[in-house]
Amino acid sequence: MTTAALIVAAGRGSRAGATVPKQYALLGGAPVLTHCLHTFSALDEIDVIQVVIHPDDAQTYNRYIGGNWPKLRAPVDGGATRQQSVLNGLEALSDRDVTNVLIHDAARPFVRPTTIRDVIRALDIHAGALAAVPVADTLKRADSSGLVEETIPRAGLWRAQTPQGFRYADILTVHRKAAAAGRYDFTDDAAIAEWAGLPVALVEDQSTNTKITTQADLSMADRLMAATSFPYPLEPRTGSGFDVHKFTPGDHVMLGGVRIPHTQGVAAHSDGDVVLHALTDAVLGALGDGDIGQHFPPSDAKWKGAASHIFLEDAVRRVSERGGRIANADVTVLCETPKIGPHREAIKASIAGILCLDPARVGIKATTTEGLGFTGRREGIAAMAGVMLLLP
Ligand code: MG
Repeated sequence: MTTAALIVAAGRGSRAGATVPKQYALLGGAPVLTHCLHTFSALDEIDVIQVVIHPDDAQTYNRYIGGNWPKLRAPVDGGATRQQSVLNGLEALSDRDVTNVLIHDAARPFVRPTTIRDVIRALDIHAGALAAVPVADTLKRADSSGLVEETIPRAGLWRAQTPQGFRYADILTVHRKAAAAGRYDFTDDAAIAEWAGLPVALVEDQSTNTKITTQADLSMADRLMAATSFPYPLEPRTGSGFDVHKFTPGDHVMLGGVRIPHTQGVAAHSDGDVVLHALTDAVLGALGDGDIGQHFPPSDAKWKGAASHIFLEDAVRRVSERGGRIANADVTVLCETPKIGPHREAIKASIAGILCLDPARVGIKATTTEGLGFTGRREGIAAMAGVMLLLP
């Protein structure tokens, strides 16, 4: 018996107002989707996880999720509607002998293991089962002018949530049938099952299984997540890095992935970005996983002139593979010139982008060395970096 989790993360989520789609927005320091993945993959009852993503999000998915998730298959692309996305995910699972499938919205990161187990258990008896909450508010129907037309008795009314579980063969058949009938107006999978005449049971969900739709939902969820302890213990790890490059004739330096016009350039095998090199070493140091020279030897022609963000991205991938996350990063640049102040925000945003962090978790500072030493003599530029990682 194989139970699959199908996590639908293909929405654009523009309503949440985040700079990235809401399923990748950070919640308690980790992407929304990651919370669902942790919860489902930690359950012995779940054997395989299939995520459906928006075709434009492949890079974002790889950057944010990456990592070592033994039950997780490669993502598949969604379609124009949620319904089509679910169907794509179901079809993708057809190479596995799946008995039951639980379809879950990535935008519900608070789903609890008990809810998932209750839905799975209900499938022992019913063809379909969904997490749901009895309606507590009094319901009004409005007319076109916004006046109350009638009060709807709420007895027997439930709010449908996810996960929604089904026998895999059943739900694939009815999804295909709905698509063949040109019906793409179903807003959840239980509605398709209902349309096809499958009995679906309501499983009362007593936990907070909120769906993140708006920016306000995201902010509230972030506070809620910060207030609840992570369901898995995380160990804090700090790392530090230091890097120097010598000035040579040139017209710019790269700092934190930002091109800064200057009267000199730097001598380097790569693009000589001391900030990204120091940060890469800080991340690798916190992991106890060697240093930048070991992973990207200057003797390797492949890295000649390389953009240094690839080094830091590789270090971030190593953090994800260990199931960890970066809590914050802090950088000090040491030089007489160029002036860092005018570029501080751009450097911060660039580093935040590479580390998948809120820019508020990135510090950029600069100092001269009072004319002393090699930086004081303007012979070169140096950077120090520190990071905090949280590792399972
Ligand atoms: Mg270097």
